[in-house]
Amino acid sequence: MPGGWTWLALAALLSLAPGGVGRAAAQQPALTAIRAGRLVDVDRGEVRRDQIVLVRGERIAAVQPASAGIPAGARVIDLRRYTVLPGLIDCHTHLIGEALAADVLQPLERTETQEAMSGVRNARATLLAGFTTVRDVGTYRAFVDAGLRDAIDDGTVIGPRMRVAGAYVTVSTGGGELVGAAPDVSLPLAYRFGVANSADQVRERVRVLLNGGADFIKVIATGAVLTRGTKPGVSEYTEEEIRAAVEQAAEYGTFVAAHAHGAEGIKRAVRAGVRSIEHGSLIDDEGIALMKQHGTWLVADIWNGDYIDSVGRAQHWPADVLRKNTETTEAQRAGFRKAVAAGVRIAYGTDSGVYPHGLNASQLPYMVKYGLTPMQAIQSATISAAQLMQWEDRVGSLAPGKFADIVAVEGDALADLRRFMKMEFVMKGGTVYREP
Ligand SMILES: [Zn+2]
Repeated sequence: MPGGWTWLALAALLSLAPGGVGRAAAQQPALTAIRAGRLVDVDRGEVRRDQIVLVRGERIAAVQPASAGIPAGARVIDLRRYTVLPGLIDCHTHLIGEALAADVLQPLERTETQEAMSGVRNARATLLAGFTTVRDVGTYRAFVDAGLRDAIDDGTVIGPRMRVAGAYVTVSTGGGELVGAAPDVSLPLAYRFGVANSADQVRERVRVLLNGGADFIKVIATGAVLTRGTKPGVSEYTEEEIRAAVEQAAEYGTFVAAHAHGAEGIKRAVRAGVRSIEHGSLIDDEGIALMKQHGTWLVADIWNGDYIDSVGRAQHWPADVLRKNTETTEAQRAGFRKAVAAGVRIAYGTDSGVYPHGLNASQLPYMVKYGLTPMQAIQSATISAAQLMQWEDRVGSLAPGKFADIVAVEGDALADLRRFMKMEFVMKGGTVYREP
């Protein structure tokens, strides 16, 4: 078998050939050609038939019509019966810990290792569901998210690319506090890492979080649905305090995402300069106009209210959590519809962790039900999400030079977004994690 020609080729591959000729060829990563029956160009908002995506190493090398042919030697992945898209992005996940259940004391009953190991499982489920990037917006146990991000980046763990918040910046007893302990029982710092009760304290916590490994800051601007006792409509920070976070984050070249349900809290956060409003449940017309004016992104988890209502009732979740969910779910959907009509920038975020990880695509049909076109819904979970995360230079569309984060669903995906619940192909950074 090893004839003369084969030996020369082998020598070149192993960089044994004299001079630099063989070395250059040997260091060129392998080429993969993905044949796409349909390809979604989210930059231009159009679907193209019969395309080829060329992947070299971890990056996209080219996107071209099938008529251009497949380069010799390329590995071919045949997705002619599929719609091929950029890897999906969820801008509101909580990968650390167990998904929410009746036992809301859970984080206090689990070691840090258990929380991290749940994160390993959740990260894998998220990736295999076609979500190759997430913006993870908070963990009760500080910096476990940063550890997971790093383990994914160095290949120890399989999961999506992550940008992480490190912990919640929240007032004492506010929407970002862990409930379950009696008022006279103090929790250790690891559970209350982002607690800050003045503008100065906010600046100090933002510095400690960003120096400690957070990528951006999550501020809890109002009460929360799922934090017992707190009121979603109640503002918990002043505009000045939120601005302190925005200014301090800007010093580090990063941004603030604001959890905000109440109309007043939303407006304070927008005026203070946050990059995104999370939830936005009780937004009013003035708040919508302000978001439009400031270019603030809306990340509204408009699906999980249905999940909480059905599963929460079946599992006997706390009555006040179920009541607050009912009070915010339809209001949030109405506000979302108005915000879409007003032209507010929309990015996809589902609040995974409230529901079991891996069901992230469940919200896509809801985006259409409440005002987006199917293409806009897909854009919200790809290029728009990448823009919100300030990662549009590396993910979010199938463009040469970006990471080869590529997914596919069978048939014509835009005809029925429920098809995204059955993800058939997942590639991240040129590595295939799921194949038909
Ligand atoms: Zn959340």
